[in-house]
Amino acid sequence: MPLRLFNTLTGQIDSLVPEDAAALRMYACGPTVYDYGHIGNFRTFLQIDVLRRTLLLLGISVRHVMNITDVDDKIIRNAQTAGIPIGEYTAPFESAFLEDLESLRVQRPEQLARATEHIDRMVMLVQQLAEVGAAYQTDEGSWYFRLRSFPEYGKLSKKDFDGMEDGARVDVDEYEKDSARDFALWKAAKPGETSWDTPIGRGRPGWHIECSAMSMEYLGDTFDLHAGGEDLIFPHHENEIAQSESVTHKPLARHWMHVRFLLVDGRKMSKSEGNFYTLRDLLLKGYKASAIRLALISVPYRHQHNFTFDGLIEATAAIERLRTFHQRLTRAALQPGSTVALQALAEKSQADYVAALSNDLNTAEARAPIFDLIRAANTALDQGQVFGEDRDAILAVLASFDAVFDVIADHDAEPTAHAVAWARSNGRVGEVSLELLSRSRLSDSQVEALLRERSEAKKRRNFARADEVRGSLADEGVSLSDSPTGTQWRRNPVTRHLKFDIVHWREKTGEWSAKIENLAIEVTGQTAIEVISKAQAEAMRMLANTIERDQPGEEVGDRQITFTVTLGSKLPICSPRVPA
Ligand SMILES: [Zn+2]
Repeated sequence: MPLRLFNTLTGQIDSLVPEDAAALRMYACGPTVYDYGHIGNFRTFLQIDVLRRTLLLLGISVRHVMNITDVDDKIIRNAQTAGIPIGEYTAPFESAFLEDLESLRVQRPEQLARATEHIDRMVMLVQQLAEVGAAYQTDEGSWYFRLRSFPEYGKLSKKDFDGMEDGARVDVDEYEKDSARDFALWKAAKPGETSWDTPIGRGRPGWHIECSAMSMEYLGDTFDLHAGGEDLIFPHHENEIAQSESVTHKPLARHWMHVRFLLVDGRKMSKSEGNFYTLRDLLLKGYKASAIRLALISVPYRHQHNFTFDGLIEATAAIERLRTFHQRLTRAALQPGSTVALQALAEKSQADYVAALSNDLNTAEARAPIFDLIRAANTALDQGQVFGEDRDAILAVLASFDAVFDVIADHDAEPTAHAVAWARSNGRVGEVSLELLSRSRLSDSQVEALLRERSEAKKRRNFARADEVRGSLADEGVSLSDSPTGTQWRRNPVTRHLKFDIVHWREKTGEWSAKIENLAIEVTGQTAIEVISKAQAEAMRMLANTIERDQPGEEVGDRQITFTVTLGSKLPICSPRVPA
């Protein structure tokens, strides 16, 4: 079944077939590494990951190139402000971006290409453009693309630039104007700015030229697919087409895929609206990377996605269902044989799943047959009507689901641990949810090592040591269950006790204020200051939720009240107790 995908260039759904049998050659615009990636960025990268994995599922190899923009207006400005070279400024953001992709299980493209490592190739392209009369140099030494030389300008964005002003120029990398202008290919060096000494003069590339130069470098003059966020259609992709096709006289890409915007709570995401989230923000709030992945891919790429926390909670529950079922089916003791009904259902689910993905990557429709299958199989398991071959067939469907969705296998501990460690080393521990702060700090591999130690101790009949290991794992919130086939372990929902004294508390016009002292929190391995500021904020929140509202108008003064607070896996339970 070929993959059918909307093509921005033709304005219709076309089959996406590699021109070259060896692999589908695709280029996706990558990040500008001047800040941490937000969930709108990651929606685009995740949807391109869905495309990539669907192609692989359909048996099509992929040669996927992604650029990393490590020089542009914003980077130069920010690095100047920080007083450091641009490479020093971008390096941590580039590694954070790659870590974030890994947290979200976005597969790494075959080729990552940094702009600053391809300056020669860009200079060559500017020279070629000058030769054909499509580029000119201004008196101050910058180079511009001559829009008048490319009559097809606007064919991707379907914008009509008939009234374009000849010779009008725009020198910033990003612009939103519908009126087309000659755009910068190469910007002459300004004092104090990063620049390169090249045959076309000292300066630095404009933003658009890098993608033309690097895509052709790695994928040839014409490749199968070019992808990016919808905001790149104009001007960035329109400009790429103009730059490349003016030189090659061949189409740059045959197919163009664009991922629609993400809204948060129905509004455009922005820092001033308070609805701006990086991936790390969400991990620190305690949401799992798998849930963020599932939420961001479950709305098909051509639909606007309205991201909400309810959606994240729904995704968390869906993953729980998938994992619980997978574990139940894998561990069930089944008789050999099969049932006609389950075999047929597994086959139909697989076919419907692949058909939905092949139909313009309809991820929402692709989920449905999988959850239908789980429902039916759970009922059959309850009735003892699942046999060995049924299990094989159902597990094969789940494996094919996970080949694209990749949320059943549990890899959530590492991204969360990583985000908490990052917050600690960047002075942002106050943003970590208390539940995460109090969670075990043992990594999966540390748990496994302790388990090996315990089993060695048992073999040596050193039961005291074995019990001690079990006890220390329990302290870290890890519980064990022994069976003849080995020891299984799981992380418990967090239960930690929080004790503090309130020396002064009051309610005024509906707002609570309290002075809290002697806060003690039983958390292992924390520095007190880190935890206390967060715990106080949490305590305030819990107090506001739990204290009886009919008494508290009065001031309590110095009377001491002790609260014992238990943090459960969901909402904290708070029980006030006035000491005698
Ligand atoms: Zn690009």
